[in-house]
Amino acid sequence: MALVMTPAQQRLLADLSGRLSERAIVTDPAEIAPWETDWRGRYHGSTPILFQPASTAEVATIVAAAVRERVALTPQGGNTSMVGGATPPPDGSAVILSLRRMNRVRSIDAEARLAVAEAGVILADLHAAAAAQARRFPLTLGARGSATIGGLVSTNAGGTQVLRFGTMRGLVAGLEAVLPDGSVHDGLAALKKDNRGYDLKQLLIGAEGTLGIVTAATLRLVPAIRERAVAWAGVANPADALMLLRRFEAKTQAIESFELLPDDSLIAVLAHVPDTRAPIATAQPWHVLIEAVATKPDDEPPMALLERLLGEALVAGLVRDATAATSEAQAEAFWRIRDSISDAERATGPAAQHDISVPVAAMPRFMIEAAAACDARFPGTHASGFGHLGDGNVHFHVRAPESVEAARWYVDEAPAVTRFVHDLVVAAGGSISAEHDIGQMKLAELERLSSPARLAALRAIKTAFDPHGLFNPGKLVALAPSAPSE
Ligand SMILES: Cc1cc2nc3c(=O)[nH]c(=O)nc-3n(C[C@H](O)[C@H](O)[C@H](O)COP(=O)(O)OP(=O)(O)OC[C@H]3O[C@@H](n4cnc5c(N)ncnc54)[C@H](O)[C@@H]3O)c2cc1C
Repeated sequence: MALVMTPAQQRLLADLSGRLSERAIVTDPAEIAPWETDWRGRYHGSTPILFQPASTAEVATIVAAAVRERVALTPQGGNTSMVGGATPPPDGSAVILSLRRMNRVRSIDAEARLAVAEAGVILADLHAAAAAQARRFPLTLGARGSATIGGLVSTNAGGTQVLRFGTMRGLVAGLEAVLPDGSVHDGLAALKKDNRGYDLKQLLIGAEGTLGIVTAATLRLVPAIRERAVAWAGVANPADALMLLRRFEAKTQAIESFELLPDDSLIAVLAHVPDTRAPIATAQPWHVLIEAVATKPDDEPPMALLERLLGEALVAGLVRDATAATSEAQAEAFWRIRDSISDAERATGPAAQHDISVPVAAMPRFMIEAAAACDARFPGTHASGFGHLGDGNVHFHVRAPESVEAARWYVDEAPAVTRFVHDLVVAAGGSISAEHDIGQMKLAELERLSSPARLAALRAIKTAFDPHGLFNPGKLVALAPSAPSE
């Protein structure tokens, strides 16, 4: 059923009709519907209008008109947010501003190792465009077939190569954005040095669309991979895993990924994901997935490198069993296990999921102690973490007791579990959002756990950019949106 538009939304529509390219305005509820619910199906929003501009100029026109009419905007890319970040509010007060039609890779300079991509370019398409020029954009994640550059910038996305290349903050060399007054900030030039005070680019990265609309980004590329090797190793505990990583890092710069998972995650994958096999024959309490690469002709072949390093670690007693993938298909099979953990755990039953970070050196102890504390505090639950150990970031999941009713558990029990986990994280000096943002899911927890000074600074920045609270209301910063003009 079509939503009734507010008078301000009606005026906005009348103002913009005829001023934008064909297909830039969508009011058909059936066409809008798929974009009103988040990827995980937890948040359901509602909007009478979806704008899908085709150019920066069109974004600026829409933003200026929306601000004039005090109509709130929910920016959206691929809608793969894990925290309901791109879902409009349920009351229909905001309209969706989708950047998906701005999907041009404007340029690739292979020599300078830079690509300029519009906000709607899908990550996998950028990977392909860079590969065609023997270059690589070194950030990847499970949602690469849908997530867009604008979304990745706005969430400061991470993924499995942060260990070597950092998050989006380190990969964005320049940014073009439409600011809340409708002006275009042209900061695409990739300046290595720029000391003109506050860095607008860094303010917009990770801002979750609350400070303006990203329309394009200049992104750093690296040489394409010539060869890779993927290995699987069993270790006794997270502390040994981190020691193993430190040993590797002392000897080579070729390690791109180092992912840790507990045996119960592997067991869940083997039980619920078809065509998966345990990489090593022996049962081990913890596992690491390691990828090493060669990008230059004189780099040590990564297979030989991993075999040598793992052999030494076996002798030193840090590794209990290990194998290296002997084909690309086997390497993909190892990665498939890692990428399927969330799906497998979903099939296992309800779980409270937390994307958290603590200082890297503190993570092994945190994983063990926090899991034990959770299990003791919430009898019948089972807590464990997996993920990016070398980044001090794990996905810390607490599975509900067997045979609970999922909907009831999520409402009655999971919030207390989450508060408990977040309290432990804060006590360990960590962050309740490592790479999945705040969105609407963690808004109350951010308020609860941040210092007054931090919250005041966030609000001051938000208000300075967006005094009327029109950009992605209800996400990241808790500000009451200003009343619509009518
Ligand atoms: C299977 C799966 C695996 C994932 N793995 C990872 C992972 O390993 N690491 C990780 O960091 N994330 C991961 N994510 C989360 C998600 O993919 C990222 O947050 C991604 O960056 C979102 O991109 P998107 O285009 O889908 O943005 P959306 O979900 O559409 O939007 C995300 C946020 O950015 C804002 N936004 C979107 N486009 C713009 C724009 N042009 N200007 C201003 N604001 C904008 C939205 O309002 C929203 O707040 C995963 C998600 C899934 C579904």
